[in-house]
Amino acid sequence: MAITRWDMSKATESEKKSSVNDDSMTLNEIVNDLAKKNPFLKTPMKRRREEKEEVSAGEKRLEWLKEKAKKAVIPTEQVSTLKPEHIFLENGPLIIHMCLECKKFNSTRTVTNLGEGKIQLPLGLCTICRSHINRQRAVKFFEHELPSIKKAYDL
Ligand SMILES: [Zn+2]
Repeated sequence: MAITRWDMSKATESEKKSSVNDDSMTLNEIVNDLAKKNPFLKTPMKRRREEKEEVSAGEKRLEWLKEKAKKAVIPTEQVSTLKPEHIFLENGPLIIHMCLECKKFNSTRTVTNLGEGKIQLPLGLCTICRSHINRQRAVKFFEHELPSIKKAYDL
């Protein structure tokens, strides 16, 4: 399923506008435009109005995310099993997406010095973060590695 951005239509519109502006703006217009965007030259009233607009855009996005999240599934312990020999011995970099709750948890843990130039960072991961590692590995294997081999060997 394709992921659509909540502000996609707005972004494309402003992109179109800015590309038109770039072509037709003179140096004077660019300087004036920059001066207009300078927050230090704005009246407090205008600045406050713009800040409010930013806040409401953030709130709008949060509402949009909450609506989408209703259909999301929180992974079970069963699908979140991680085996160190699998995740650490793969080719390529290991990228871990960590949720805010896990980041906060790990930030309060201590770092252990293991000697030989190595330290051990805490790595507490909830089922969402662990199952995501598994999903990432599966997607990479089935949707990148295997098709690449198929192409390379003309299978
Ligand atoms: Zn997490």
